[in-house]
Amino acid sequence: MSHKEAQTKKTNVSLKDFYKRQITVAHIFGIPVRFDYRWFIVFILSVWLIAVNLSRGGMFIGSFRLQPVGTVTAWVLGVITTLGLFLSVLAHELSHAFMGRSEGIEIEEIVLHPFGGLARLRNEPENPRAEFRIAVAGPAASFLIGVVSFVLLLPTVRAGYSIAAAILLLLSAGNLLLAIFNLFPGYPLDGGRVLRAILWRRTGDIREATRLAGICGMLIAAILIIFGVYMVIAPNFRSYFMGFWSVLVGVFLFDAAYSVVKHVQGRLENIVREAMSAPFSIEPDLLISNLIDSVLPMHRQVAFPVTHERRLHGMLSLEDLKALPRERWHLTRARDVMRPIAPRFFVEPNARLEYARELMKRNGIRSLAVVGKNGELVGFLQSGKFKRKRR
Ligand SMILES: [Zn+2]
Repeated sequence: MSHKEAQTKKTNVSLKDFYKRQITVAHIFGIPVRFDYRWFIVFILSVWLIAVNLSRGGMFIGSFRLQPVGTVTAWVLGVITTLGLFLSVLAHELSHAFMGRSEGIEIEEIVLHPFGGLARLRNEPENPRAEFRIAVAGPAASFLIGVVSFVLLLPTVRAGYSIAAAILLLLSAGNLLLAIFNLFPGYPLDGGRVLRAILWRRTGDIREATRLAGICGMLIAAILIIFGVYMVIAPNFRSYFMGFWSVLVGVFLFDAAYSVVKHVQGRLENIVREAMSAPFSIEPDLLISNLIDSVLPMHRQVAFPVTHERRLHGMLSLEDLKALPRERWHLTRARDVMRPIAPRFFVEPNARLEYARELMKRNGIRSLAVVGKNGELVGFLQSGKFKRKRR
């Protein structure tokens, strides 16, 4: 139902794990089409549901009542209708895929899983317009199939082809449902991608757009789960099958949306603030003998920010002390041997971690002071000693 772009390794691995139990059944225009093996369970379930309903003959098309059909006919019709629905899902995904191609994005694969399908694109769309077009293409195809089936339905009913009418009705309803459900504005549903494209266009920030659309996806998933539970327990409802299905789809969607949101936040966390340790600094007047006797045993750092009233004055590197004879330790103060403040010795908390790493490689003291807007010391970074927040 939803199509999903190529994400970075981390998310890709977990999604791959989820979809790894699959077989390749066809190549359509060079695109591998794979089945998740659990999809067969849904196939059988769908055939069974349609067959049971048709043989009981409880189906109404407007004021027209479909006569009950024989058991064998019902099962054959179940298979035909389910195949029709399956081809509808495939058409939906192919529509995403072809639109992706026309936007210059190659298609990795199409996977049919228990909750629908997935057209996996090799890269992210490069602009909101491409994203919008690719997202809308799927529901548009479903909507078209739904409307065409419905238009064909009326003359079929009038001509008395009741069995063909039943198939057309189910195809029409199935495709319209597919279109509508996928347009719910929660990422990674198609509607969520449309939302993301709109937010992306407005703000120019794809990460924030993805995060917001993902949160909407989590909300919609939560509603599906609550609604499903309600359908099962509400006394006047008691629709177990629909209820459980709604919960399952909700859980599936929540998991997908959550991993997207988390992934985006993970990328936001790659800044100095998240890796720095709490600031510890020494005063300019501190004697080197004191530093070595009382500070160093407690604070194993390769360098120390030198501050006075929280303001950074310089950096004292232990490396630099090697040149200082031991007998001069109690005569020398931090200010005498520190390296005076220079841009290569400090970063802002919002600086990218990668940039900080590069700086530490080249600045000769393998560490950095982290300095806030008003020049106050707020943290400390040391090469190879990053504090990592748990995810
Ligand atoms: Zn879709």
